[in-house]
Amino acid sequence: MATPRIMLLGAPGAGKGTQSANLADHYGIDHITTGDALRANKDMETEYGTPREFMEAGELVPDPVVNEIVEAAIDEADGFVLDGYPRNRSQAEYLESITDLDAVLYLEVSDEELIHRIAGRRLDPETNDVYHVEYNPPEDPAVEDRLVQRDDDTEEMAQERIGVFKESTLPVVEHFDATGDLVRIDGEQSPAAVWSDVRAAVDAAIDA
Ligand code: ADP
Ligand code: ADP
Repeated sequence: MATPRIMLLGAPGAGKGTQSANLADHYGIDHITTGDALRANKDMETEYGTPREFMEAGELVPDPVVNEIVEAAIDEADGFVLDGYPRNRSQAEYLESITDLDAVLYLEVSDEELIHRIAGRRLDPETNDVYHVEYNPPEDPAVEDRLVQRDDDTEEMAQERIGVFKESTLPVVEHFDATGDLVRIDGEQSPAAVWSDVRAAVDAAIDA
């Protein structure tokens, strides 16, 4: 299968964006990320208010808003990697009603490491590439000069979002674990070692 449909689960800071970029490149599939889509539409008026109000509080944006974004993106994609969606059982049920998946992966990382990764995360506003002040600084000083930090990447907000992950998203992990579809990946390794495990898991799922 040339164009796999992949779900990549993991807490905030687990490395979903980093590994999704690898997956999109390697398999030639779309990278569907609700976080980026919402950040680009923070002030969009919806019947629930704007995404900004929820994002700045570290809370989940209401399901109908994200479900609509994902359904439109899936309709246009051949294969895809879902990054940051689904984040609760209701989104997972919606997803299962609109598409089938070939692989479900879960990046496991300790809370302490998640906080360290989130606090040091920086974005290049021109390319949307993700860096880390310590683990993955840019080589080009011009890129380094323009890096920005996300508003919600403070240590306090990171704690809040990890709490939301445990309460709302871990049940999704447990659901796919129970159906036998989930592959756990040690996300605490180097980015290259994580990528090697991620690719092996997808290749195994495609061949199965
Ligand atoms: P991270 O990469 O740190 O996990 P994201 O960029 O995926 O963070 O998400 C940032 C914020 O966007 C979340 O805290 C939440 O407010 C909102 N968000 C992203 N995806 C979803 C989703 N599937 N459902 C609800 N809210 C979401
Ligand atoms: P997520 O999308 O799950 O929130 P990111 O891919 O944005 O996670 O990664 C969070 C931060 O940690 C970024 O600064 C990224 O450069 C860094 N990072 C990602 N994977 C690793 C890894 N395996 N080891 C160390 N740092 C990593």
